[in-house]
Amino acid sequence: MGRAFVYVIIGGGVAAGYAAHEFFKRGVTHGELCIISEEPVAPYERPALSKGYLLPEAPARLPSFHCCVGTNEEKLTPKWYKENGIELILGTRVKSADVRRKTLLTATGETISYKYLIVATGARALKLEEFGVNGLDATNVCYLRDLADADRLANVMQSCGGGNAVVIGGGYIGMECAASLVINKFNVTLVFPEAQCMPRLFTSKIASYYEDFYQSKGVKFIKGTVLTSFDFNSDGQVTAVNLRDGSKLPADMVVIGIGIRPNTSLFEGQLTMEKGGIKVNGQMQSSNASVYAIGDVAAFPVKIVGETRRLEHVDSARKAARHAVAAITEPEKTSDFDYLPFFYSRVFTLSWQFYGDNAGEVVHFGDFAGPTFGAYWVNKGYLVGSFLEGGTKEQYDAIACTTRLKPKIDDVAELERQGLGFALSVSQKPVSLRPSDVDGGSGVVLEKPMYAWHATAGVIVAASIVAFAYWYGRRRRRW
Ligand SMILES: Cc1cc2nc3c(=O)[nH]c(=O)nc-3n(C[C@H](O)[C@H](O)[C@H](O)COP(=O)(O)OP(=O)(O)OC[C@H]3O[C@@H](n4cnc5c(N)ncnc54)[C@H](O)[C@@H]3O)c2cc1C
Repeated sequence: MGRAFVYVIIGGGVAAGYAAHEFFKRGVTHGELCIISEEPVAPYERPALSKGYLLPEAPARLPSFHCCVGTNEEKLTPKWYKENGIELILGTRVKSADVRRKTLLTATGETISYKYLIVATGARALKLEEFGVNGLDATNVCYLRDLADADRLANVMQSCGGGNAVVIGGGYIGMECAASLVINKFNVTLVFPEAQCMPRLFTSKIASYYEDFYQSKGVKFIKGTVLTSFDFNSDGQVTAVNLRDGSKLPADMVVIGIGIRPNTSLFEGQLTMEKGGIKVNGQMQSSNASVYAIGDVAAFPVKIVGETRRLEHVDSARKAARHAVAAITEPEKTSDFDYLPFFYSRVFTLSWQFYGDNAGEVVHFGDFAGPTFGAYWVNKGYLVGSFLEGGTKEQYDAIACTTRLKPKIDDVAELERQGLGFALSVSQKPVSLRPSDVDGGSGVVLEKPMYAWHATAGVIVAASIVAFAYWYGRRRRRW
Protein backbone atom coordinates (compact mmCIF):
# COMPACT_ATOMS: atom_id res chain seq x y z
CA MET A 1 0.00 0.00 0.00
CA GLY A 2 1.16 3.54 -0.49
CA ARG A 3 0.34 7.10 -1.31
CA ALA A 4 0.40 9.04 -4.57
CA PHE A 5 1.33 12.69 -5.06
CA VAL A 6 1.62 14.86 -8.12
CA TYR A 7 4.95 16.25 -6.94
CA VAL A 8 7.43 14.55 -4.65
CA ILE A 9 10.70 16.05 -3.41
CA ILE A 10 13.29 13.64 -1.98
CA GLY A 11 15.48 15.44 0.54
CA GLY A 12 14.59 18.07 3.09
CA GLY A 13 17.42 20.58 2.79
CA VAL A 14 17.82 24.04 1.35
CA ALA A 15 16.75 23.16 -2.19
CA ALA A 16 13.67 21.29 -0.96
CA GLY A 17 12.55 24.26 1.16
CA TYR A 18 12.87 26.75 -1.69
CA ALA A 19 11.15 24.38 -4.11
CA ALA A 20 8.25 24.01 -1.67
CA HIS A 21 7.98 27.78 -1.38
CA GLU A 22 7.94 28.17 -5.15
CA PHE A 23 5.21 25.53 -5.47
CA PHE A 24 3.22 27.44 -2.85
CA LYS A 25 3.68 30.75 -4.71
CA ARG A 26 2.44 29.07 -7.87
CA GLY A 27 -0.67 27.82 -6.12
CA VAL A 28 -0.02 24.12 -5.52
CA THR A 29 -3.23 22.45 -4.39
CA HIS A 30 -3.44 20.89 -0.93
CA GLY A 31 -2.30 17.28 -1.01
CA GLU A 32 -0.40 17.53 -4.30
CA LEU A 33 3.11 18.00 -2.89
CA CYS A 34 5.11 15.84 -0.53
CA ILE A 35 8.66 16.16 0.85
CA ILE A 36 10.43 13.06 2.13
CA SER A 37 13.47 13.76 4.27
CA GLU A 38 15.84 11.65 6.27
CA GLU A 39 16.26 14.54 8.70
CA PRO A 40 13.72 14.82 11.50
CA VAL A 41 13.11 18.56 11.02
CA ALA A 42 11.57 20.72 8.30
CA PRO A 43 13.99 22.18 5.70
CA TYR A 44 16.38 24.77 7.12
CA GLU A 45 19.17 27.11 6.03
CA ARG A 46 22.15 24.76 6.32
CA PRO A 47 24.87 27.48 6.33
CA ALA A 48 23.67 28.52 9.80
CA LEU A 49 25.15 25.30 11.19
CA SER A 50 28.75 26.50 10.94
CA LYS A 51 27.94 30.08 11.90
CA GLY A 52 25.15 31.14 14.29
CA TYR A 53 24.62 27.57 15.52
CA LEU A 54 28.10 27.37 17.03
CA LEU A 55 28.12 30.72 18.81
CA PRO A 56 28.92 30.49 22.53
CA GLU A 57 26.30 33.13 23.41
CA ALA A 58 22.70 32.95 22.19
CA PRO A 59 23.36 30.40 19.44
CA ALA A 60 20.84 30.12 16.61
CA ARG A 61 18.36 27.30 17.04
CA LEU A 62 15.37 26.13 15.06
CA PRO A 63 12.81 27.41 14.25
CA SER A 64 14.81 30.62 13.77
CA PHE A 65 16.56 29.46 10.56
CA HIS A 66 14.03 27.41 8.68
CA CYS A 67 13.99 28.12 4.94
CA CYS A 68 13.49 30.85 3.55
CA VAL A 69 14.34 33.19 6.44
CA GLY A 70 17.58 34.47 4.96
CA THR A 71 16.08 35.87 1.79
CA ASN A 72 13.30 38.12 3.05
CA GLU A 73 10.70 35.43 2.44
CA GLU A 74 8.45 33.94 5.07
CA LYS A 75 9.97 31.33 7.36
CA LEU A 76 8.78 27.83 6.46
CA THR A 77 8.03 26.21 9.81
CA PRO A 78 6.29 22.83 10.08
CA LYS A 79 3.08 24.81 10.69
CA TRP A 80 3.53 26.58 7.36
CA TYR A 81 3.70 23.24 5.50
CA LYS A 82 0.63 22.00 7.33
CA GLU A 83 -1.39 25.13 6.67
CA ASN A 84 -0.52 24.95 2.99
CA GLY A 85 -1.35 21.29 2.56
CA ILE A 86 2.24 20.20 1.89
CA GLU A 87 2.96 16.75 3.29
CA LEU A 88 6.22 16.53 5.24
CA ILE A 89 7.42 12.97 5.73
CA LEU A 90 10.33 13.52 8.10
CA GLY A 91 12.90 11.20 9.64
CA THR A 92 12.34 8.87 6.70
CA ARG A 93 14.96 7.76 4.23
CA VAL A 94 14.05 6.85 0.69
CA LYS A 95 15.57 3.41 0.26
CA SER A 96 15.06 2.86 -3.43
CA ALA A 97 13.62 4.56 -6.47
CA ASP A 98 12.20 3.19 -9.69
CA VAL A 99 12.04 5.96 -12.25
CA ARG A 100 10.31 3.81 -14.87
CA ARG A 101 7.45 2.97 -12.52
CA LYS A 102 7.63 6.41 -10.87
CA THR A 103 7.72 4.95 -7.39
CA LEU A 104 9.84 5.35 -4.28
CA LEU A 105 10.22 2.93 -1.41
CA THR A 106 10.88 4.42 2.02
CA ALA A 107 12.80 2.83 4.88
CA THR A 108 9.47 2.47 6.71
CA GLY A 109 8.22 0.24 3.90
CA GLU A 110 5.85 2.71 2.28
CA THR A 111 5.62 3.00 -1.50
CA ILE A 112 5.11 6.54 -2.73
CA SER A 113 4.33 7.30 -6.33
CA TYR A 114 4.67 10.57 -8.17
CA LYS A 115 3.98 12.29 -11.45
CA TYR A 116 7.01 14.57 -11.09
CA LEU A 117 9.98 13.86 -8.86
CA ILE A 118 12.50 16.46 -7.66
CA VAL A 119 15.72 14.97 -6.36
CA ALA A 120 17.21 17.26 -3.70
CA THR A 121 19.28 14.77 -1.76
CA GLY A 122 22.30 17.07 -1.44
CA ALA A 123 25.57 15.56 -0.35
CA ARG A 124 27.13 13.85 2.63
CA ALA A 125 30.39 14.56 4.40
CA LEU A 126 33.30 12.40 3.33
CA LYS A 127 34.31 10.18 6.23
CA LEU A 128 37.81 9.36 7.41
CA GLU A 129 37.12 5.66 6.95
CA GLU A 130 36.97 6.26 3.20
CA PHE A 131 40.66 7.21 3.49
CA GLY A 132 41.56 4.26 5.67
CA VAL A 133 41.66 6.18 8.98
CA ASN A 134 39.76 4.72 11.91
CA GLY A 135 37.97 7.07 14.29
CA LEU A 136 34.29 7.26 13.37
CA ASP A 137 33.22 5.88 16.75
CA ALA A 138 35.18 8.36 18.85
CA THR A 139 32.75 10.74 20.55
CA ASN A 140 35.09 13.71 20.19
CA VAL A 141 35.57 13.42 16.41
CA CYS A 142 32.99 15.60 14.66
CA TYR A 143 31.74 16.22 11.14
CA LEU A 144 29.40 18.99 10.07
CA ARG A 145 26.74 18.38 7.47
CA ASP A 146 23.40 18.26 9.23
CA LEU A 147 21.65 19.30 12.38
CA ALA A 148 22.59 16.12 14.22
CA ASP A 149 26.27 16.78 13.42
CA ALA A 150 25.93 20.38 14.59
CA ASP A 151 24.32 19.32 17.86
CA ARG A 152 27.10 16.85 18.45
CA LEU A 153 29.76 19.44 17.64
CA ALA A 154 28.15 22.01 19.94
CA ASN A 155 27.91 19.42 22.74
CA VAL A 156 31.53 18.30 22.35
CA MET A 157 32.67 21.94 22.37
CA GLN A 158 30.73 22.54 25.54
CA SER A 159 31.97 19.39 27.28
CA CYS A 160 35.61 20.19 26.43
CA GLY A 161 35.15 23.79 27.58
CA GLY A 162 38.10 25.04 25.58
CA GLY A 163 41.31 23.06 25.12
CA ASN A 164 43.01 21.81 21.97
CA ALA A 165 40.99 21.43 18.80
CA VAL A 166 42.42 20.02 15.60
CA VAL A 167 40.57 20.80 12.39
CA ILE A 168 41.32 18.62 9.38
CA GLY A 169 40.69 20.32 6.04
CA GLY A 170 41.26 23.88 4.85
CA GLY A 171 38.09 24.34 2.80
CA TYR A 172 34.76 25.97 3.69
CA ILE A 173 33.89 23.74 6.62
CA GLY A 174 37.42 23.69 8.04
CA MET A 175 37.79 27.46 7.88
CA GLU A 176 34.35 28.23 9.30
CA CYS A 177 34.65 25.64 12.07
CA ALA A 178 38.13 26.87 12.99
CA ALA A 179 36.73 30.37 13.43
CA SER A 180 33.85 29.08 15.57
CA LEU A 181 36.23 27.06 17.72
CA VAL A 182 38.39 30.13 18.31
CA ILE A 183 35.29 32.09 19.32
CA ASN A 184 34.58 29.23 21.75
CA LYS A 185 38.07 29.69 23.25
CA PHE A 186 39.81 26.64 21.81
CA ASN A 187 43.46 26.49 20.76
CA VAL A 188 42.98 25.58 17.13
CA THR A 189 45.35 23.85 14.73
CA LEU A 190 44.22 23.61 11.12
CA VAL A 191 45.79 20.80 9.06
CA PHE A 192 45.49 20.37 5.29
CA PRO A 193 47.54 18.84 2.48
CA GLU A 194 47.56 21.83 0.15
CA ALA A 195 49.90 24.83 0.25
CA GLN A 196 47.08 27.22 1.19
CA CYS A 197 43.56 27.40 2.58
CA MET A 198 40.51 27.37 0.25
CA PRO A 199 42.63 26.11 -2.66
CA ARG A 200 39.71 25.63 -5.03
CA LEU A 201 38.78 29.31 -4.91
CA PHE A 202 41.38 31.56 -3.32
CA THR A 203 44.53 32.79 -5.00
CA SER A 204 47.64 32.39 -2.85
CA LYS A 205 47.58 36.13 -2.14
CA ILE A 206 43.99 36.03 -0.94
CA ALA A 207 44.65 32.87 1.06
CA SER A 208 47.63 34.53 2.75
CA TYR A 209 45.41 37.35 3.95
CA TYR A 210 42.95 34.96 5.63
CA GLU A 211 45.70 32.76 7.03
CA ASP A 212 47.40 35.81 8.56
CA PHE A 213 44.10 36.93 9.99
CA TYR A 214 43.42 33.48 11.50
CA GLN A 215 46.96 33.38 12.90
CA SER A 216 46.34 36.74 14.56
CA LYS A 217 43.42 35.01 16.31
CA GLY A 218 45.75 32.24 17.50
CA VAL A 219 45.07 29.59 14.84
CA LYS A 220 48.08 27.46 13.90
CA PHE A 221 48.36 26.18 10.32
CA ILE A 222 50.05 22.92 9.39
CA LYS A 223 50.12 22.57 5.63
CA GLY A 224 51.28 19.96 3.16
CA THR A 225 50.46 16.95 5.29
CA VAL A 226 47.54 14.73 6.22
CA LEU A 227 46.12 12.89 9.16
CA THR A 228 47.24 9.28 9.33
CA SER A 229 45.89 8.02 12.67
CA PHE A 230 44.57 8.91 16.11
CA ASP A 231 45.68 8.05 19.64
CA PHE A 232 42.78 7.01 21.88
CA ASN A 233 42.28 6.85 25.64
CA SER A 234 40.63 3.91 27.39
CA ASP A 235 37.17 5.48 26.81
CA GLY A 236 37.74 5.43 23.07
CA GLN A 237 38.18 9.18 22.87
CA VAL A 238 40.83 10.69 20.66
CA THR A 239 43.69 12.23 22.62
CA ALA A 240 46.08 13.04 19.79
CA VAL A 241 46.22 13.34 16.02
CA ASN A 242 49.15 11.81 14.15
CA LEU A 243 50.20 13.38 10.88
CA ARG A 244 52.11 11.95 7.93
CA ASP A 245 54.97 14.39 8.55
CA GLY A 246 55.56 12.60 11.86
CA SER A 247 54.09 15.22 14.17
CA LYS A 248 51.62 14.46 16.91
CA LEU A 249 49.03 17.05 17.94
CA PRO A 250 47.32 16.77 21.33
CA ALA A 251 43.57 16.96 20.82
CA ASP A 252 40.57 17.38 23.08
CA MET A 253 38.40 17.36 19.99
CA VAL A 254 38.75 16.97 16.23
CA VAL A 255 36.63 18.40 13.43
CA ILE A 256 36.82 16.80 10.01
CA GLY A 257 35.98 18.85 6.91
CA ILE A 258 37.51 16.92 4.03
CA GLY A 259 34.83 17.36 1.40
CA ILE A 260 31.48 16.01 0.40
CA ARG A 261 30.03 13.43 -1.95
CA PRO A 262 26.68 13.95 -3.70
CA ASN A 263 23.88 11.56 -2.70
CA THR A 264 23.23 9.99 -6.11
CA SER A 265 23.09 6.31 -5.20
CA LEU A 266 19.29 5.97 -5.54
CA PHE A 267 19.60 6.82 -9.22
CA GLU A 268 22.87 5.22 -10.32
CA GLY A 269 22.16 3.18 -13.43
CA GLN A 270 18.78 4.91 -13.91
CA LEU A 271 19.72 8.52 -14.69
CA THR A 272 22.66 10.01 -16.58
CA MET A 273 25.41 11.25 -14.25
CA GLU A 274 28.06 13.90 -14.80
CA LYS A 275 30.62 15.60 -12.56
CA GLY A 276 29.63 13.21 -9.78
CA GLY A 277 26.01 14.38 -9.83
CA ILE A 278 22.74 13.89 -11.69
CA LYS A 279 23.03 15.52 -15.08
CA VAL A 280 20.19 17.93 -15.84
CA ASN A 281 19.40 20.35 -18.64
CA GLY A 282 18.65 24.07 -18.34
CA GLN A 283 15.19 23.17 -17.00
CA MET A 284 16.83 21.09 -14.22
CA GLN A 285 15.33 18.02 -15.91
CA SER A 286 17.28 14.78 -15.81
CA SER A 287 17.61 12.11 -18.50
CA ASN A 288 14.18 10.90 -17.35
CA ALA A 289 11.59 13.54 -18.26
CA SER A 290 9.64 13.14 -14.99
CA VAL A 291 12.69 13.54 -12.77
CA TYR A 292 14.32 16.87 -11.93
CA ALA A 293 17.42 17.41 -9.78
CA ILE A 294 18.48 20.51 -7.84
CA GLY A 295 21.08 21.65 -5.33
CA ASP A 296 24.36 19.95 -4.53
CA VAL A 297 23.32 16.72 -6.26
CA ALA A 298 22.66 18.32 -9.67
CA ALA A 299 25.14 18.97 -12.47
CA PHE A 300 23.60 21.67 -14.65
CA PRO A 301 24.72 23.78 -17.61
CA VAL A 302 26.22 26.99 -16.26
CA LYS A 303 25.70 29.14 -19.34
CA ILE A 304 28.05 31.92 -18.37
CA VAL A 305 31.02 29.55 -18.17
CA GLY A 306 29.81 27.36 -21.02
CA GLU A 307 30.00 24.05 -19.20
CA THR A 308 28.10 21.68 -16.98
CA ARG A 309 28.99 22.09 -13.33
CA ARG A 310 27.90 20.83 -9.96
CA LEU A 311 27.96 23.65 -7.44
CA GLU A 312 28.03 23.06 -3.70
CA HIS A 313 26.62 26.40 -2.61
CA VAL A 314 23.43 27.58 -1.08
CA ASP A 315 22.55 30.34 -3.55
CA SER A 316 22.69 27.92 -6.43
CA ALA A 317 20.49 25.43 -4.52
CA ARG A 318 17.89 28.11 -3.81
CA LYS A 319 17.68 29.43 -7.34
CA ALA A 320 17.84 26.06 -9.07
CA ALA A 321 14.96 24.95 -6.84
CA ARG A 322 12.77 27.85 -7.90
CA HIS A 323 13.76 27.31 -11.50
CA ALA A 324 12.88 23.61 -11.50
CA VAL A 325 9.43 24.34 -10.09
CA ALA A 326 8.86 26.99 -12.75
CA ALA A 327 9.96 24.53 -15.42
CA ILE A 328 7.61 21.84 -14.11
CA THR A 329 4.57 24.06 -13.65
CA GLU A 330 5.00 26.43 -16.61
CA PRO A 331 7.41 24.78 -19.04
CA GLU A 332 6.39 26.93 -21.99
CA LYS A 333 7.20 30.14 -20.09
CA THR A 334 10.46 28.96 -18.56
CA SER A 335 13.66 29.56 -20.44
CA ASP A 336 16.89 27.79 -19.54
CA PHE A 337 18.47 28.51 -16.16
CA ASP A 338 21.14 31.16 -16.58
CA TYR A 339 22.96 31.22 -13.28
CA LEU A 340 25.81 33.46 -12.20
CA PRO A 341 27.78 31.37 -9.66
CA PHE A 342 27.83 33.10 -6.28
CA PHE A 343 29.72 31.93 -3.18
CA TYR A 344 30.18 33.72 0.11
CA SER A 345 31.46 33.21 3.60
CA ARG A 346 31.47 35.13 6.86
CA VAL A 347 33.99 34.40 9.58
CA PHE A 348 35.09 36.53 12.53
CA THR A 349 34.65 40.10 11.31
CA LEU A 350 35.47 39.11 7.74
CA SER A 351 33.02 38.67 4.91
CA TRP A 352 33.64 37.91 1.25
CA GLN A 353 31.63 37.33 -1.88
CA PHE A 354 32.65 35.73 -5.15
CA TYR A 355 30.84 35.78 -8.48
CA GLY A 356 31.46 33.94 -11.73
CA ASP A 357 34.42 31.76 -12.51
CA ASN A 358 37.95 31.78 -11.09
CA ALA A 359 39.60 30.92 -14.41
CA GLY A 360 42.37 32.74 -16.27
CA GLU A 361 44.65 35.55 -15.20
CA VAL A 362 44.15 37.05 -11.73
CA VAL A 363 44.13 40.80 -11.20
CA HIS A 364 44.26 41.73 -7.52
CA PHE A 365 43.12 45.14 -6.37
CA GLY A 366 42.66 47.15 -3.21
CA ASP A 367 44.61 47.26 0.01
CA PHE A 368 45.55 43.80 1.27
CA ALA A 369 46.69 45.44 4.50
CA GLY A 370 43.28 47.04 4.96
CA PRO A 371 39.71 45.86 5.22
CA THR A 372 38.69 45.96 1.54
CA PHE A 373 40.43 44.19 -1.32
CA GLY A 374 39.59 41.84 -4.11
CA ALA A 375 40.42 40.21 -7.39
CA TYR A 376 39.13 39.87 -10.91
CA TRP A 377 39.72 36.89 -13.14
CA VAL A 378 40.28 37.66 -16.82
CA ASN A 379 39.94 34.72 -19.18
CA LYS A 380 40.54 34.96 -22.94
CA GLY A 381 40.23 38.74 -22.75
CA TYR A 382 36.99 38.87 -20.72
CA LEU A 383 36.35 39.53 -17.07
CA VAL A 384 34.80 36.27 -15.86
CA GLY A 385 35.06 36.35 -12.08
CA SER A 386 35.19 38.79 -9.17
CA PHE A 387 36.03 38.45 -5.50
CA LEU A 388 35.62 41.09 -2.82
CA GLU A 389 36.39 41.09 0.89
CA GLY A 390 34.85 43.68 3.18
CA GLY A 391 32.62 45.30 0.57
CA THR A 392 29.52 47.40 1.02
CA LYS A 393 26.22 46.30 -0.48
CA GLU A 394 26.75 48.70 -3.37
CA GLN A 395 30.23 47.29 -4.01
CA TYR A 396 29.04 43.68 -3.95
CA ASP A 397 26.21 44.64 -6.31
CA ALA A 398 28.78 46.22 -8.57
CA ILE A 399 31.06 43.20 -8.84
CA ALA A 400 28.07 40.92 -9.41
CA CYS A 401 26.67 43.15 -12.12
CA THR A 402 30.05 43.55 -13.81
CA THR A 403 30.77 39.83 -13.75
CA ARG A 404 27.40 39.14 -15.30
CA LEU A 405 28.19 41.63 -18.08
CA LYS A 406 31.47 39.81 -18.82
CA PRO A 407 33.19 42.94 -20.17
CA LYS A 408 36.07 42.69 -22.61
CA ILE A 409 39.37 43.61 -20.98
CA ASP A 410 42.09 44.73 -23.35
CA ASP A 411 44.39 46.23 -20.75
CA VAL A 412 44.85 44.21 -17.59
CA ALA A 413 47.19 46.82 -16.06
CA GLU A 414 44.47 49.43 -16.44
CA LEU A 415 41.96 47.10 -14.81
CA GLU A 416 44.36 46.67 -11.90
CA ARG A 417 44.82 50.43 -11.65
CA GLN A 418 41.06 51.05 -11.57
CA GLY A 419 40.43 48.15 -9.19
CA LEU A 420 37.01 48.23 -7.59
CA GLY A 421 36.34 51.51 -9.40
CA PHE A 422 36.05 49.54 -12.63
CA ALA A 423 33.13 47.49 -11.34
CA LEU A 424 31.51 50.55 -9.81
CA SER A 425 31.68 52.50 -13.05
CA VAL A 426 30.44 49.60 -15.19
CA SER A 427 27.56 48.87 -12.84
CA GLN A 428 26.47 52.50 -12.59
CA LYS A 429 25.88 52.77 -16.29
CA PRO A 430 22.26 52.85 -17.44
CA VAL A 431 21.82 49.16 -17.85
CA SER A 432 19.34 46.98 -16.12
CA LEU A 433 20.37 43.37 -16.39
CA ARG A 434 17.34 41.93 -14.80
CA PRO A 435 17.77 39.10 -12.40
CA SER A 436 14.94 36.71 -11.87
CA ASP A 437 14.68 33.94 -9.41
CA VAL A 438 12.93 31.61 -11.72
CA ASP A 439 12.84 32.43 -15.36
CA GLY A 440 16.36 31.81 -16.43
CA GLY A 441 17.50 35.39 -16.09
CA SER A 442 18.97 34.83 -12.68
CA GLY A 443 21.99 36.94 -13.42
CA VAL A 444 22.66 39.41 -10.72
CA VAL A 445 20.83 37.89 -7.84
CA LEU A 446 22.42 38.58 -4.51
CA GLU A 447 21.78 38.09 -0.87
CA LYS A 448 19.05 40.09 0.77
CA PRO A 449 17.87 42.71 0.40
CA MET A 450 17.05 42.62 -3.25
CA TYR A 451 17.96 45.66 -5.23
CA ALA A 452 15.78 48.51 -6.14
CA TRP A 453 16.75 48.34 -9.78
CA HIS A 454 15.37 44.83 -10.00
CA ALA A 455 12.02 46.51 -10.44
CA THR A 456 12.93 48.06 -13.76
CA ALA A 457 11.15 46.14 -16.45
CA GLY A 458 10.09 45.70 -20.07
CA VAL A 459 10.73 48.73 -22.23
CA ILE A 460 13.16 50.25 -19.76
CA VAL A 461 15.28 47.11 -19.88
CA ALA A 462 15.40 47.13 -23.66
CA ALA A 463 16.24 50.84 -23.81
CA SER A 464 18.93 50.45 -21.18
CA ILE A 465 20.57 47.58 -22.97
CA VAL A 466 20.75 49.61 -26.17
CA ALA A 467 22.24 52.54 -24.23
CA PHE A 468 24.75 50.26 -22.58
CA ALA A 469 25.74 48.66 -25.85
CA TYR A 470 26.48 52.09 -27.27
CA TRP A 471 28.42 53.22 -24.21
CA TYR A 472 30.28 49.99 -23.89
CA GLY A 473 31.24 49.91 -27.54
CA ARG A 474 32.89 53.28 -27.01
CA ARG A 475 34.56 52.14 -23.82
CA ARG A 476 36.01 49.00 -25.38
CA ARG A 477 37.97 51.13 -27.78
CA ARG A 478 39.77 52.63 -24.80
CA TRP A 479 40.61 49.23 -23.24
C1 LIG B 1 27.91 23.62 7.77
C2 LIG B 1 27.70 24.12 6.38
C3 LIG B 1 27.90 25.47 6.09
C4 LIG B 1 27.70 25.96 4.81
N1 LIG B 1 27.92 27.27 4.56
C5 LIG B 1 27.74 27.75 3.31
C6 LIG B 1 27.98 29.12 3.03
O1 LIG B 1 28.37 29.90 3.90
N2 LIG B 1 27.78 29.56 1.75
C7 LIG B 1 27.36 28.71 0.76
O2 LIG B 1 27.20 29.15 -0.38
N3 LIG B 1 27.11 27.40 1.01
C8 LIG B 1 27.30 26.89 2.25
N4 LIG B 1 27.07 25.57 2.51
C9 LIG B 1 26.60 24.69 1.43
C10 LIG B 1 25.07 24.69 1.34
O3 LIG B 1 24.50 24.52 2.60
C11 LIG B 1 24.63 23.60 0.39
O4 LIG B 1 25.11 23.93 -0.90
C12 LIG B 1 23.11 23.45 0.37
O5 LIG B 1 22.63 23.04 1.61
C13 LIG B 1 22.68 22.45 -0.69
O6 LIG B 1 21.30 22.26 -0.59
P1 LIG B 1 20.64 20.85 -1.00
O7 LIG B 1 19.19 20.99 -0.71
O8 LIG B 1 21.11 20.43 -2.32
O9 LIG B 1 21.28 19.79 0.03
P2 LIG B 1 21.11 19.71 1.58
O10 LIG B 1 20.79 21.04 2.15
O11 LIG B 1 22.29 18.97 2.08
O12 LIG B 1 19.83 18.77 1.79
C14 LIG B 1 19.81 17.42 1.40
C15 LIG B 1 18.72 16.73 2.17
O13 LIG B 1 18.44 15.45 1.59
C16 LIG B 1 18.26 14.50 2.61
N5 LIG B 1 18.46 13.17 2.02
C17 LIG B 1 19.56 12.70 1.40
N6 LIG B 1 19.36 11.44 0.97
C18 LIG B 1 18.08 11.12 1.31
C19 LIG B 1 17.26 9.96 1.13
N7 LIG B 1 17.71 8.86 0.50
N8 LIG B 1 16.01 9.98 1.62
C20 LIG B 1 15.53 11.08 2.25
N9 LIG B 1 16.25 12.20 2.45
C21 LIG B 1 17.50 12.21 1.97
C22 LIG B 1 19.28 14.93 3.63
O14 LIG B 1 19.03 14.33 4.88
C23 LIG B 1 19.07 16.43 3.62
O15 LIG B 1 17.98 16.79 4.42
C24 LIG B 1 27.29 25.06 3.78
C25 LIG B 1 27.09 23.70 4.07
C26 LIG B 1 27.30 23.23 5.35
C27 LIG B 1 27.10 21.75 5.65
